[in-house]
Amino acid sequence: MTKPTWFDTRIENALLKHQSPDDEQGYFVYQLDALKNHLEQLQQQDVIKLWFAVKANPLSKIIQTLDGAGFNFDVASSGELAQVLAQGISPDRVLNTGPAKSKKQLKAFVELGVKTFVVESLNQLNWLNEVIAEQALTAQGVVESPTVLLRVQLQWPDGEKNPLGGNSLTPFGLSVQEWQNVQVNDYPNLDICGLHIFQWGNMLSNEKMYSLWGQMVEPLTSLATDIGMELKILDLGGGLGIDYLNEGKQLSWQKIITDLADIKAQSGVEELWLELGRFAVAECGYYVVPVVDRKINYDQEQLVLAAGINHIIRPAITDQPFPVMLLRNSNAPSQAFDIHGPLCTSMDKLGHLTLPDDVTVDDKLVFGYCGAYGFTESMPFFLCHQLAAEYVFQEGNLVEIRPAQPATSYLA
Ligand SMILES: *Cc1c(COP(=O)(O)O)cnc(C)c1O
Repeated sequence: MTKPTWFDTRIENALLKHQSPDDEQGYFVYQLDALKNHLEQLQQQDVIKLWFAVKANPLSKIIQTLDGAGFNFDVASSGELAQVLAQGISPDRVLNTGPAKSKKQLKAFVELGVKTFVVESLNQLNWLNEVIAEQALTAQGVVESPTVLLRVQLQWPDGEKNPLGGNSLTPFGLSVQEWQNVQVNDYPNLDICGLHIFQWGNMLSNEKMYSLWGQMVEPLTSLATDIGMELKILDLGGGLGIDYLNEGKQLSWQKIITDLADIKAQSGVEELWLELGRFAVAECGYYVVPVVDRKINYDQEQLVLAAGINHIIRPAITDQPFPVMLLRNSNAPSQAFDIHGPLCTSMDKLGHLTLPDDVTVDDKLVFGYCGAYGFTESMPFFLCHQLAAEYVFQEGNLVEIRPAQPATSYLA
């Protein structure tokens, strides 16, 4: 059995040797040495300023590794901000996005030293302006104006070629038409100098990405002109894809750099930003879980695992399974299994995936690309199972960062 390309064989022995009664319901491992190398490669360029979308994986060690590689941090909640600051990262390097920023939250972020905001509504813009004005009244010295980017949500008229492939409305940002009600000069306390746009996901084609980005330039630069903004910063969000389905598609980072250098020139901005989530961290993470049962049901081979969407929900909500392999050598021919978790709902399915046909009870499976949208995206409380442990693999050692916790730790 050849090992899949997503599996880093340097961690194999550690996974095979790892025995802990606490981890018999599944655990996560993040390969930090590989992550560090990957991030360093992403930084070998001077076209894009890189931010890490913390929602992809807020584990302390992951944030510290991104910090070490010179990434800045995109946070979308008070909890994410607290976690980033707890790692000793300066609030100067934090950007705040998210559709639910109350005036109270904006004030708290400003007081904690955050100076960069992506605003997503007229209320957010007015509230942030008020917060700074109120601070100026009470502060001794001069209050610095925060850097503000307006988040734009584009739609294409019916019948026209739509680069987004659909016009579903979201709460992220505002239409060009709504932003046109703003004049930048009316907000003296804010340095409104950028636009943010991000409304695509898991893109796996360089050509598509480039075409999409290219079609944003004209509407965005026109908007900036209309509202009296000198457009200095363009933030293109995240959405760079991971080949979860093993379709042989992969984005070329080199091509992204040359394409974005072009977009930067076309839009005339000083800075181009990306907030990477999965493209930064997905590949470094693995989820290991034992097989509890195997059976045939109406001619379909089924495996039932010790945990499923209570630890990794993404396959069920996106229809994209994480790829899987058996954690031992086997020369048996492969066949397709329906892979289920333990929850009493038909939603708890991790995919229809191929494994050696001698896979059996107590075997362990390893899922790949679980470094992003794994532990914190799941639904761990349903049916009172255990919370998964999280380990890092660093300099040849498996180190436990979060121990597994039984249901008694969270039930009241
Ligand atoms: C989730 C998110 C990202 C990261 O998305 P990926 O697809 O993981 O790269 C970036 N920016 C914002 C504003 C987000 O909400």
